[in-house]
Amino acid sequence: MIDRDRFPRLTFLDRPTPIEPLEGLSRHLGPALNGVRLFVKRDDLARFGIGGNKLRKLEFLLGAARAEGADTVITVGAIQSNHARLTAAAAARAGFACELVLTRSVPNTDPAYTRSGNRLLDDIFGATVHELPGDADSLKHAEARAAALRAEGRGVYVFPSGGSSPVGSLGYVACAAEILAQSAEMGIDFAQVVTPNGSAGTHAGLAAGFSAAGRAPTLAKSFAVLATEAEAAVETLAKANATLALLKPGATLTAEDILIDGSHRGPGYGIPTDGMKEAVRLLARTEGLLLDPVYSGKGFAGLLHDVRAGRYAPGSAVLYVMTGGVPGLFAYPDAMAGG
Ligand SMILES: *Cc1c(COP(=O)(O)O)cnc(C)c1O
Repeated sequence: MIDRDRFPRLTFLDRPTPIEPLEGLSRHLGPALNGVRLFVKRDDLARFGIGGNKLRKLEFLLGAARAEGADTVITVGAIQSNHARLTAAAAARAGFACELVLTRSVPNTDPAYTRSGNRLLDDIFGATVHELPGDADSLKHAEARAAALRAEGRGVYVFPSGGSSPVGSLGYVACAAEILAQSAEMGIDFAQVVTPNGSAGTHAGLAAGFSAAGRAPTLAKSFAVLATEAEAAVETLAKANATLALLKPGATLTAEDILIDGSHRGPGYGIPTDGMKEAVRLLARTEGLLLDPVYSGKGFAGLLHDVRAGRYAPGSAVLYVMTGGVPGLFAYPDAMAGG
């Protein structure tokens, strides 16, 4: 599906990542499960950097950077960006210098948020970090920094928030193919593949990947955690089409092909919700698995709501993609302690 010569790729994951049933959670939910068979795809497992969904995108992004002869990568994100942390880790591993332009876009001044979690790891992985106010144009700043470094003779590759460029989203096109192959091997026909939606590349890649494989793009569904439902729908459709254009020129998706639910985002990006806290604790206490407070906790809260509400027919199999983000838990001690 993906042309290896046009889109070179480094290897940051052991694949396929496992698909596992949630037996402990299912026992706990009992009749509230409404007969649904719940599975997780372990994209939180990794060889390095604590792992997470950004590694699939970084395989293609750093592959492109290497092919262009870059020696430095620059990306952007919030202070607790998992994407920034994994870019720093992957750059270190692949031998690139890394600069991160991080914005204080989340209204949280707790030192645990501003200094621990992912932000601490950025330093340890050796990235050069530039911190900007919440309303700054981080990508513009990154481009200016890249221009300055290029003037010194460096080769610089810049990529956007979440690594969600069309090339980065190819990581989840590859994941869609991987899920279909595992589904055939396991003899399980998933009714839905569910993810959180932040910078939209994960959903966009899955929708484009399912479509390119001849399956319904609505096999993918996401819960918006950053933009509102309407904004996320527009952005995800645009990114899915930009990604699809790399695979199948002429093929396009329409608004009905993109399934997004914004009702579990709460007051805004990076702001804890009761549903997130319940979801994080429930999966931890029934499975020993960790969700995160910003993305996967809210997404899983949405999935739990749908399952309890009887949205899926009894006997149907639903797959939740575990996207990582564990260091974010340490940035939210006030929300996550006790309980
Ligand atoms: C970035 C991220 C997501 C969302 O992925 P996008 O491609 O940005 O929509 C989900 N979960 C975690 C843990 C993340 O870090």
